[in-house]
Amino acid sequence: MKRFTTGPIEMEKEILEIRGMQLPYHKDEEFSHIMLETDVLLKKFVKAPVGAKTVYLTATGTAALEATVINVFTPADKVLIIDGGTFEHRFIEICRVHDIPHVILKLKPGEALTAEHLEAFEGEALTGFLVNLNETSTEQLYDIKLISAFCKRKNCYLIVDAISTFLCNPYDMEGFGADATIISSQKGLGISPGLSIVVLNERIIKDRIMTNPTKSFYFNFKYYIRGWEKGKLPFTPCVGICMQLNKALKLIEAKGLALHLAGIRVVAEDFRHRLAQLPLKLPDYPLSNGVTPVIFPDDNAMEMFYLLKENYDIVVTQAQGDWKNKVLMIAHIGNVSVDDNEVLIKAMKEILHIG
Ligand SMILES: *Cc1c(COP(=O)(O)O)cnc(C)c1O
Repeated sequence: MKRFTTGPIEMEKEILEIRGMQLPYHKDEEFSHIMLETDVLLKKFVKAPVGAKTVYLTATGTAALEATVINVFTPADKVLIIDGGTFEHRFIEICRVHDIPHVILKLKPGEALTAEHLEAFEGEALTGFLVNLNETSTEQLYDIKLISAFCKRKNCYLIVDAISTFLCNPYDMEGFGADATIISSQKGLGISPGLSIVVLNERIIKDRIMTNPTKSFYFNFKYYIRGWEKGKLPFTPCVGICMQLNKALKLIEAKGLALHLAGIRVVAEDFRHRLAQLPLKLPDYPLSNGVTPVIFPDDNAMEMFYLLKENYDIVVTQAQGDWKNKVLMIAHIGNVSVDDNEVLIKAMKEILHIG
């Protein structure tokens, strides 16, 4: 079977080997050492500013979104949320549940984010901006320069859900002025789901995390930050996934981050180029290199999904909600190559009865 899925993804052989091994005991020095070594690489790839600290949560990405919101904001805040898809609805729901005042920048289906959209919010007294930098349900990669300049003007905290852009597209936490960067294990990192990571800069730790009266025990970042200098986590972490994380980051370090990212771009561009042979379309907004959303003008995306699975042993990703029959998502991360693209396009052509 070949997976072109957005996460969990088609994992590399080296990661699969680590998954099959016995686990170290998490209270041993050796494990703390591995975590600290992992953390150095992670912060390097995120381009975290000096003084940044990391929270490692045994939970999926959504938990990290919620945990970040409740550790950083209180009902005295007011945050802006871009609403362009299903993952952004999660930020809105989280703010609703926790009574965090919020305003919503609504994008129409298929609409790209522009400076004009943000202009409408210049007058709001905002203390935070929440963005899913790559909204995975549409695969729009927002223009971070616009967002980052807006947050600097407004002097508000910038919280970036980088879950599906980190290690798929270039990312620069310090350069973007992101105060928090949220990551989850099953996307660009290419390892099992269950670990999520929040990288925080010095100002947000000092002015918010350590001083806010966060009403949560397990998700209170204070406990995670306090023991971290020694590589200790407050609760038993998903040790096996932490071991995969260490391996995944070392593999990228050995290859070089630039080369890793270029490799994904090549596979994405190759796929988009080959797609021109088919009567299918791409969206007009800016796309991530990690995934290509393929538009089916005849609303037969689901049929394609099932035929690929049943007749070719190929698994692609279904779109959600209204897009279910309109769009399929083809991932370019993990163990997928230009050769795999060729096989996929050939199968799609046969299904569509094209030469
Ligand atoms: C995958 C993803 C998440 C996290 O989803 P979980 O299922 O909770 O891991 C959050 N935001 C974005 C943009 C994602 O792509």
